[in-house]
Amino acid sequence: MTTNYSAEQLWQMDKDHFIHPYTDFTTFAEEGSQVISQADGMHITDTTGKSYLDAIAGLWCVNIGHGRKEMAETISEQVLNMQYYNPFGHSTNEPGSVLAAKLAELAPGDLNKVFYTCGGSTAVDTAIRLVHYYNNIRGKNNKKQIISRNNAYHGSTYVASNITGIHGCKSNLDRIADSWINHISAADMFHRPKGAENLSEAEYTQFLADEFENRIVQLGENNVAAFIAEPIMGAGGVLVAPAGYHQAMHAICQKYDILYIADEVVTSFGRLGDFFASKSVFGMQPDIIITAKGISSGYIPLGAAIISDRIWDVVSDPKTGGGALTMGYTYSGHPVACAAALKNIEIMERENILDHVKEVGPYLQEQIKTLSDLAIFGESRGSHLMLGLELVANSSTNEPFPSEVGIASRVFEHCRNAGLIVRPVGNTIVLSPPLIISKAQVDQIVSTIREAINLTM
Ligand code: PLP
Repeated sequence: MTTNYSAEQLWQMDKDHFIHPYTDFTTFAEEGSQVISQADGMHITDTTGKSYLDAIAGLWCVNIGHGRKEMAETISEQVLNMQYYNPFGHSTNEPGSVLAAKLAELAPGDLNKVFYTCGGSTAVDTAIRLVHYYNNIRGKNNKKQIISRNNAYHGSTYVASNITGIHGCKSNLDRIADSWINHISAADMFHRPKGAENLSEAEYTQFLADEFENRIVQLGENNVAAFIAEPIMGAGGVLVAPAGYHQAMHAICQKYDILYIADEVVTSFGRLGDFFASKSVFGMQPDIIITAKGISSGYIPLGAAIISDRIWDVVSDPKTGGGALTMGYTYSGHPVACAAALKNIEIMERENILDHVKEVGPYLQEQIKTLSDLAIFGESRGSHLMLGLELVANSSTNEPFPSEVGIASRVFEHCRNAGLIVRPVGNTIVLSPPLIISKAQVDQIVSTIREAINLTM
């Protein structure tokens, strides 16, 4: 939709009335927001006509790239055919059913049942409610504790935000009774917890697994319901676990009858070269996968909790007291969103986008390392098209920049002036471009970041 308002009027209306998520209102009061009015392929354009290379895919989500005509046509066709009818009880819709079957085909192992939500946070809340319900039905009514990790991001609804381990996200916001939410160390190779600084990768995995097992023992195995983890932490700064970590955590879950929830909101739908990363990339079969974002490439909101047959058999069996799952959303399985997701998956398959990611992803990871000669290069990390470049005050000692320096925000500003959008997270520059990025665009990103860092120093 375009309106007849001038760029100045739009900027003012936005500043006066639109409450933006996760926004620092001290600077917002003066600067307001940049109004993005057009998007095509790898690029976005603002209302002043300036165009930018989008190296963050909107917000880790526009996986097939911006402005696809066939996505618009699919959405419009579904709106004209049947834009909405409720999915409660005994009515359903064609795209919702077909997409559920497709997700069951793409998801690993026995993850064959799909509960649709409106995004990632609602999928996390849904999963937690399902886990508690599953245990209630099994007569394990005390099995309620959820173990998450520091620096994890799981969303912004009440439960998801409390499970989130980026504790700065919660300043001045109330927390629900922490009695059933626990945080253990992040699996972070760069900033390790005390006692783990000099361990080998295998020893560090064991260290983290021991911490997890000790916490379970301390809480009591009969009280712990689930462990939730992103395969690679995204909003926490693109933190990659040491080798074998997810498998080790999964083995402990199995030992104590604890469900493993893989939050693949960012890592699913191609960002790591596969539709889902848990099994194919990390060798581990979760009990529940949370997905959103890339499922519809951000063309329309959609999320899902995909659960195992094992859980479903319990929660749906009338003999065990199940059979009435009294939870759901007006927009669960929204036909327009599901039609968009089906087209999105069709495009990914037809254009072999996952193969492309397997080629261009390692190229991005390799090229960013050419910046290691810069005095403030700390570490670059990630996998495929998920990358974090951490900047440090001193690259020989890895001494961090004090947060008031705002180093990543300053680099972000220089990049933006040069027509490139990156994402500052703490002292880390995060990249998560649309999956259609070319090698030439990778080169452009790397050289623009180099210039931006040089201007910052
Ligand atoms: N989980 C992870 C790993 C995420 O990165 C996000 C959002 O960035 C969420 C959950 C929440 O998703 P949403 O913002 O769609 O509610």
